[in-house]
This record gives sequence, C-alpha cells and structure tokens, in this order.
Amino acid sequence: MSRIIQKYGGSSVANLELIKAVAQRAIETKLAGHEVVVVLSAMKGETDRLLNLAKEITEDPDKRELDCLLSIGEQTNVAIFALVCQAMGEKVKSFLGYQAGIKTDDVHGRARITELNPSRLKTELAKGRICVVAGFQGQNRHGDITTLGRGGSDTTAVALAVALDADVCEIYTDVEGIYTTDPNVCDAARKMDRICYEEMLELSSLGAKVMEIRSVELGMNYGVKIHVRHAHSSATGTIICEEDADMEKTPVRGVTHSVNEARITLLRVPDLPGVAARILSIISKAGVVVDMIIQNQSALPPDETDDGQIQLTDFSFTVPSGDYDTTLDLMKAAGQEIGAAEVVGDNNIAKVSIVGVGMRNHAGVATLMFQTLAREGINLSMISTSEIKISCVIEKKYAELAVRALHEAFKLG
Ligand code: ADP
Ligand code: ASP
Ligand code: MG
Repeated sequence: MSRIIQKYGGSSVANLELIKAVAQRAIETKLAGHEVVVVLSAMKGETDRLLNLAKEITEDPDKRELDCLLSIGEQTNVAIFALVCQAMGEKVKSFLGYQAGIKTDDVHGRARITELNPSRLKTELAKGRICVVAGFQGQNRHGDITTLGRGGSDTTAVALAVALDADVCEIYTDVEGIYTTDPNVCDAARKMDRICYEEMLELSSLGAKVMEIRSVELGMNYGVKIHVRHAHSSATGTIICEEDADMEKTPVRGVTHSVNEARITLLRVPDLPGVAARILSIISKAGVVVDMIIQNQSALPPDETDDGQIQLTDFSFTVPSGDYDTTLDLMKAAGQEIGAAEVVGDNNIAKVSIVGVGMRNHAGVATLMFQTLAREGINLSMISTSEIKISCVIEKKYAELAVRALHEAFKLG
C-alpha cells in the first residue's frame, strides 16, 4: 500500500463534470489499495473572478479580507468533491487549510507554511477515508485565513507529501507533464520523462507556471517524488527528481519566457560606492523583489578623469510588472537625491531563458543563444546567467518568436 497525494489544478476541476471525473480517479486509486489525500484548486478562473470583485470595490483591498475572499474558491471545491464521492458511495472527508493543520506566517497573499500537523488527516486515512484538502490556504498565529500566493495549491500538495511521508505527490494538470517549453506556445515542445529539481526550479522561477516555484523548492529540500501528469489521461507524465548523468548530456533542456517583468533605468548616476545600495534599499523597503540588475563600471575611476569630475553611469534593474508603477514612482521621487539625471521605465519587455544542468560542462551555449536571437532580428537589452541558465531581456512582442527559435536551435523538439 502506498500513500499518494493527488493535486488537481483549476482546469482539471473547472466544473461539476470534471470534478466527478477526478473523484472517480481518486476512488480508483483508493480501491487499488492506496491511501489517498486529494488537494484541490479553485475552479479555473474563480480566483481571478474573486480578485476582480474585490478590485471593483477598491484598487488596494485589505490583504486580510482579500485572503478570506480568495480562499472561497478552494473551499467550494473540496465540499463539492466530498459530496460527489459520497454520492458515489465512497468514504471521504473535506478539510480546509487550518483543519488539515496548515499553519503559516502572517504575510497575507503570499504566506509561507511554518508548521504542518497532519494528525487529523492520519486519523481519517486510518479509518479508510479519502481526505480532500483545500489548496492555497492556511491559518496564521492569530487564527486568520492566509493564502500562499498564486499557484499555491502545488505548495499545499508538496507540503502534505512531506508531512505525511507520502510515496509520491501527483500534480494533475491540463498538459501531459513538463515539456521542453510551454506546449501552448510551441507545437514542437516535447514531454520530458524526467527533470531534476534544479532545472524545474529555474523553469518555474523564469516563467513556466506549470509548477509553482515554492512547491519545487520544498520538493527538492525534502526529496519528494513529484509526478506531473494529465488529469484526464492515464499516460505517465514527468517525474521531478534528483539529477542523473543522462540529464547532463544535453546542454539545454528547456526554454521558457515571462512577460511579467518591467525595467527601470536611472540615467547618469554618480559612479560612487554606496549608490547601488541606496537605490536597492528604497525598493526592498517597499517589499518589491528585484530580479536582474545591470550597472556598467565607468571607464575611469573618478580621480583619473581629465577634469576631476565624478564619473557617471546608468543603473538598470527589473521588477515584477505588478510592482512597476510603485517602483517607478519611488525612483522618480528619489532620483534627485541619488543624483540621477533622469529615471525612465519600460514595461514592454519580456525575459526569455534557456535552462539545463548540462550547461555546466558544455561550451558555446550563450553564443548559440545570442546568434539565434540575432538571426531573428531580436535585440538583447539585458543578459543574466547562472551555472544552469541564461536569460535575456527583449521586447515583449518577440517573446514567443524567441522561444520557438531557441527551441529549434537547441534541437529540443
Ligand atoms: P493548473 O491549473 O493545473 O495548476 P497551470 O495553468 O498552473 O495549471 O499550469 C499548466 C500550464 O503551464 C500549461 O497549460 C502550460 O501552458 C503551462 N506551461 C508553461 N511552461 C510549461 C512547460 N515547460 N511544460 C508544461 N506546461 C507548461
Ligand atoms: N486558486 C489559486 C490560483 O488560482 C491557487 C491554485 O490554483 O493553485 O492561483
Ligand atoms: Mg498551477
């Protein structure tokens, strides 16, 4: 007998018929002799609908009340799922986040799980019941409902897999697994049998929304076997696991893109120690996370310029597009104090990235990436690299073209 977590995403439980189909699947798994814990998302579009409802009232809804509202989508689905299972003659019990023992910190809207006590779930599993848990939500120390950030049901599922020492965490979605790139962007995308945690972590953080990043982080830290697969097909999907030697044979394993970024540039700031720290401390105080940063060192140190003037430089960085307006306002307000001649922004950008653990020992990867984008007439405005990824900032309108060109150039199809 195995203990299995099955998480069904929004598109897999988008209406009653689909919920019936996934309930059937959970019941079959239990009848095959396994213990089953199901984690559900809200119906596709429901979280956005609730969010828009709040935004109709105010542009900046109170975060505690918003969490109370957004958690309803998942609450609805676990109750419906339980009723469906009962109608099918199966023993089942539904649990909201707090009933499943999920405790979080106080950061409404992107809370982190701090503790998970699954004792009630264990009791019900021992009684032969399927447990169905509302994803995306927990409870903070004050007893208030919190949510874990968009896509957070993946995190609920992996956290439960850790707490219940499950044999596998199955993530059911609307594609057959993890592909070499988003199959909805590139027809030639190919499903991978296996991908390692590190590669998945990079793909998630660089825009592939198929797995929420924190869930991958958790899975990696605790060695959870994660199986990403299609909710309405029996085909094997992709296993997220430890790296193996085969994965290093190809330099690039995946291509991804994100259009949720914006760039801000401070023009002609003094090239002096402490300037970057001042800029970034203003942004971090506002709770905004900076991604890429580019600053060119001036050609000469200040004391060697002809006229003894301080050298000037441009300082650029990217932030999530949702934080663009706030950050631009902050920088415009602080620009004079920092000594910038001008502050400009651009939220018409995209980041396209290639990822693969094999990059560590293959030369020429960056060259091929830049040549490929150049051939398509795409200009690179920022570049950043790590051991296993290269990202370029380009004009937003070229994002999907760039993905397809890179997918072909690296022969991923
Ligand atoms: P769910 O509602 O099940 O949580 P998501 O919409 O969050 O599903 O994630 C699934 C989507 O992720 C797919 O429909 C696909 O468009 C997108 N995606 C992006 N990159 C990839 C990739 N490399 N492999 C598979 N899917 C990807
Ligand atoms: N319903 C939430 C969202 O849309 C959580 C999830 O689906 O994982 O982001
Ligand atoms: Mg998702």
